[in-house]
Amino acid sequence: MSSVTVRVPAKVNVQLSVGPLREDGYHDLVNVFHAVSIFDEVVAKESEAITVTVQGEWTDRVPIDDENLAIQAARALAKHAGRTYGAHLIIRKAIPVAGGMAGGSADAAGALVACNELWGLGLPFEDLMEIADDLGSDVPFSMLGGTAVGTGRGEQLSELPTGGRFHWVFAVADGGLSTAAVYAECDRLRDAAEVKVPWPQLSDPLLDALGTGDAHQLGAYLTNDLQPAALALRPQLARTLEAGQRQGALGAIVSGSGPTCAFLAADAAHADRMAAALATADVARSAIAAQGPVPGATVM
Ligand code: ATP
Repeated sequence: MSSVTVRVPAKVNVQLSVGPLREDGYHDLVNVFHAVSIFDEVVAKESEAITVTVQGEWTDRVPIDDENLAIQAARALAKHAGRTYGAHLIIRKAIPVAGGMAGGSADAAGALVACNELWGLGLPFEDLMEIADDLGSDVPFSMLGGTAVGTGRGEQLSELPTGGRFHWVFAVADGGLSTAAVYAECDRLRDAAEVKVPWPQLSDPLLDALGTGDAHQLGAYLTNDLQPAALALRPQLARTLEAGQRQGALGAIVSGSGPTCAFLAADAAHADRMAAALATADVARSAIAAQGPVPGATVM
């Protein structure tokens, strides 16, 4: 095989509960991931060395050296296989960069699946998941897709059943936010407020809403503990959230560490109307209608 193309989805967190800061610097999380139909494509082509090029609107903000998570994934896979392999990776980027939608993790998952095929390794999914786990806490979910809850640092994943399709609009901001900076701001705000941070718990009404496909209930129970920190770092996001609420969003939330904002719609037509209204409201760079859940990294 001389070329393999893999499609990988973005994610939104429908619940992101952040526990107290641990001594190792991490937080215990209850992180409900939901894969949505904004996709990066990772093409792997035969080559001597492992290299990458990035195509699309976000190219200037994605590293093309060893910092690129897709390169790190390909290297980790070659190491696991115990051989020197090469691949030229082409990332066709649609997922906002540093947008709280796990774009880098998606590309890492895409590279793992694409290179496994290109190099004819035939490693089972479980082996790829182990490598994914070492690459970053969102990478296993990008492999899996659908809807799943991550606990611990977010890396212990269990699939969650969903009873229907949910329709979303994502308002994409101009610049990105660093995930580490948003967690640091979250800790700072909590210290300043001297709140006793509760142990994170999976929300039962949220689980019910996912299971029955009830968008109204899901909208009412969307939560993101990182939202106050993202809003503190990027106050103009409050206007973006309000603009979606004015369009009748069933729920309006910052996606993960932000700055992308996610709006839950009643149906596909509502999502299209909301996206059109947000695109002209001067509150975001662009607004994208999408649906979820969708599968994880998939060979095309
Ligand atoms: P998450 O939601 O997983 O916290 P994010 O969606 O906010 O992450 P990413 O799009 O993954 O953020 O980008 C975070 C940083 O990772 C970027 O600023 C970029 O420098 C770096 N990066 C490395 N590889 C990639 C890649 N393939 N695509 C995008 N960013 C990458």
